[in-house]
Amino acid sequence: MDNHSPALFLGDALALDFLNSVATPIDTPVDWIEDGEGLLRWLEQANLVPRETLESLRAQALPGELDNVADQARNLREWFRTFVREHKGRQLKPDALAELEPLNRLLERDEGYGRVVARQTDEGAVFDFQTMRKWRSPEALLLPVGEALGRFVCTEDFSNVKACEGPSCTLLFADHTRGYRRRWCSMALCGNRAKQAAHRHRIRQA
Ligand SMILES: [Zn+2]
Repeated sequence: MDNHSPALFLGDALALDFLNSVATPIDTPVDWIEDGEGLLRWLEQANLVPRETLESLRAQALPGELDNVADQARNLREWFRTFVREHKGRQLKPDALAELEPLNRLLERDEGYGRVVARQTDEGAVFDFQTMRKWRSPEALLLPVGEALGRFVCTEDFSNVKACEGPSCTLLFADHTRGYRRRWCSMALCGNRAKQAAHRHRIRQA
């Protein structure tokens, strides 16, 4: 598996999937946004940026420009990881706001606008209000990520943000299960491994 493999979207929250864009799913660490091309692929898989926008930014980018944005994306990711690790497992307190200043600085750069578009339905055309964004430079690729992080902080109950219990797993997820008993990033990656280990343990005991 390398960063051309489909990225992991197991976090049940896009902001956590962003943190999970570096992981060790099998033995080797994979960073899905280790360079500009990786960042474009991840943003497309996350449905954060329309494909046409990614294509035009790719075509216009100067050499190294997208790699530079990927560096910034990784910095943003590791900064946000520190925040999540520190605050997960209990409700966010108002004084955490001071720590979110770098995120607010990023969000300030956003240039959003609205647009009325027509949509065809069985009853004829209706109009929808679409929120759009100006993509003035490749750095604008960080803005939808910033928005996902901001919305996550405002809407997610941090009591339910958990780290996978897999011994060497680094994945984070929001536990939205009934009863809040989720323990693993996924059964396929860690849950089954834990079950097999418990099974071997029982056999040894018997
Ligand atoms: Zn795991």
